[in-house]
Amino acid sequence: MTKFDVVLDELVTANRILAREGVVDSFGHVSVRHPDRPDRYLLSRARAPDCIEADDIMEFSLDGTPLDPADRRPYLERFIHGAVYEARPEIGSVVHNHSPSVIPFGVTNQRLRPLLHMCASIGHEVPIWESQDRFGDTTLLVENMEMGRDLARCLGGGGRTALMRGHGSVVIGRTLREAVFTSIYLEVNANLQMRAMNMGPIKFLSPGEVDAIIARTGPFTLNRAWENWCRRANRPVIEIP
Ligand SMILES: [Zn+2]
Repeated sequence: MTKFDVVLDELVTANRILAREGVVDSFGHVSVRHPDRPDRYLLSRARAPDCIEADDIMEFSLDGTPLDPADRRPYLERFIHGAVYEARPEIGSVVHNHSPSVIPFGVTNQRLRPLLHMCASIGHEVPIWESQDRFGDTTLLVENMEMGRDLARCLGGGGRTALMRGHGSVVIGRTLREAVFTSIYLEVNANLQMRAMNMGPIKFLSPGEVDAIIARTGPFTLNRAWENWCRRANRPVIEIP
């Protein structure tokens, strides 16, 4: 396999894993920055993630223009991806999803914060993007670059996750495996936080604990989780060259 073929295969696997783990359903998407062209990204045509094959993957410039569309229809919300890659050169992968447990934290005053060591990668506190502030009444969908850039600004210079009020979330990573890892543990944390809230005041991870855990979360941890999720999604584990 060429380097490009490996990236395509990894992206198909990422879609299947996110579907298997309940982060995406018929909607939601994951992209990866082009391995040779940082001004482009790879993202499936508009299709449910669990159905995606390598032939569905399309190439886009950062403004969301499809470069080889053929008869394939792109996701309306692809602008989320390009806007993040434009704003954050160190980022290699973006996930947008509507995973159910995070939604309550976008529509209440309860802020989503890491409470489990595996979830430190979501960041210290998850900000909320409010589309009303600049765009008023919309369908809540990110349907142009202006909205995408506004959302990317909400992530800040070092953020890893952001909620989208009444809609879902965006999760980013330096690598595809990191973005998938954080997406899954964002859902886990939200689910646990709702349950813990019913039991009393929560002791969240301290800022120092979050920083220490993030510093130790490297390829070994990400690959161990990836191998397990590949097995569960019925996908082969490919060694990244
Ligand atoms: Zn969406």
